Amino acid sequence: MGKPTCTPLVGLEIHVQLATRSKLFCGCAVEFGATPNSRVCPVCMGLPGTLPVLNRQAVDFSLSVGVALNCRIARHSKWDRKSYYYPDLPKNYQISQYDLPLAESGFFEIPSNGSTRRIRIRRAHLEEDAGKNIHDTPGCTLVDLNRTGTPLLEIVTEPDITSAEEAYTFCTELQRLVTYLGVSEGNMKKGQMRFEPNVNVIIQDDGVEYRTPISEIKNLNSFKAVRGAIDYEFRRQFADWQSDHGFVIGQRPNDNRGWNDDRQVTEFQRGKEAAHDYRYFPDPDLVPLEIDDAWLDRIRGQAVELPLARRSRLAEAHDLSEEDADTIVADRTTADLFEAVIDAGGPAELVAKQFVNVWLKLAKERGATVGGLGVEPGRMARLAMLVQGGTISATAANRIAARMLEVDDSPEDLAKTLGLLQVQDTAELERWVEEAFAANSRAVTDALTKPKKAPKSIGFLRGQVMRISGGRADPRLAGELIEKRLQGMDPS
Ligand code: ZN
Ligand code: MN
Repeated sequence: MGKPTCTPLVGLEIHVQLATRSKLFCGCAVEFGATPNSRVCPVCMGLPGTLPVLNRQAVDFSLSVGVALNCRIARHSKWDRKSYYYPDLPKNYQISQYDLPLAESGFFEIPSNGSTRRIRIRRAHLEEDAGKNIHDTPGCTLVDLNRTGTPLLEIVTEPDITSAEEAYTFCTELQRLVTYLGVSEGNMKKGQMRFEPNVNVIIQDDGVEYRTPISEIKNLNSFKAVRGAIDYEFRRQFADWQSDHGFVIGQRPNDNRGWNDDRQVTEFQRGKEAAHDYRYFPDPDLVPLEIDDAWLDRIRGQAVELPLARRSRLAEAHDLSEEDADTIVADRTTADLFEAVIDAGGPAELVAKQFVNVWLKLAKERGATVGGLGVEPGRMARLAMLVQGGTISATAANRIAARMLEVDDSPEDLAKTLGLLQVQDTAELERWVEEAFAANSRAVTDALTKPKKAPKSIGFLRGQVMRISGGRADPRLAGELIEKRLQGMDPS
């Protein structure tokens, strides 16, 4: 008997909060962090006698996602009431789309081992979000209806995902997609993207195939939680099947589980409800949604280059590594800025290096993106040119870049005022080399006596010269002087 083989099978449900200014069916502002219950009106509070009015922008945003996900767009769709009773949705139903979603039968290409993989999209529909129940006061639960009625796009994939890592990639790529399209900020901390993986495991054992019951893991709000929860479920379901071969679909109910981030486990919440439990029926307050050619053409006309395509184009055009290209396209404004810097004459390879090693670091310190730093492309281009021409070292570029965020001076002027113009004066360089040798006798000995370690030791010594010179030494010349000095030394 061989060892059983098993594969996880994952489908994802993703809720994306759309970046409309007002809510889906009323004029209240969509705003995060406002005073509780200050962004509400009779419609989103569910008072009797009120009528919903559809937000056209939310439909536009949904359509552009549907088009980008290669979906068939429904020319005719409608609104349905999904019954459920929670205080955070005071109408006692959610307005959603049941049998006629806005978009269906698409696919999304994600990077996979140097190539791409197609994950099929089952559907994408528009619905309203619920508010928030707040449990931080002992003895009572508070409710904040500010979020109630916020437009959500629910995207459902087919169960085509076969690992936790692939699910992670899917989610990050989808976040890029929606931010590129400008339809959502995709901010996880603000709950603007929430993930619900459906996971089960296919087990092949002695020619027999088993499928474990499906668990839906509710409301994950980070990529890491998605990966962790799927990984955990895969192991748990396989272990359950090993201890009881009756643990298969149909013989055990599917369930809903929650993710415990502290313990890194999923926990049983409840058995899974079926669609009939929700008592869906068409909302009599809303007319069906008709999308005509002109509307769809307008949306298609606004299509932008998508992140994956942009990454390949930039990598190819400028000879960038996949990693660097990936970092640059992660955010659309950063990718736009990168291209503007190239257009302004920046040498692509160096500009890419500075984006990844210099600007990104500065951006992270400020909680921003490179594109959000507000530095003019022309100034970034000139900084890269200074390094390319040997006027300043790569190390000096770090300090100049940091200063460029504070003052409007040109990189050339800053190089002068900060005393960072590269020193090519041999006498001065020799003094720095001497100092580096004196302070690092161990590296000098290694360079002389251990051929295998020599390149590393020489690199280290050059780094020390750069440090001692405050980044002003010409690294190429410094390297030459180090080698020369070593050659003149006695290995014993
Ligand atoms: Zn309202
Ligand atoms: Mn939903």
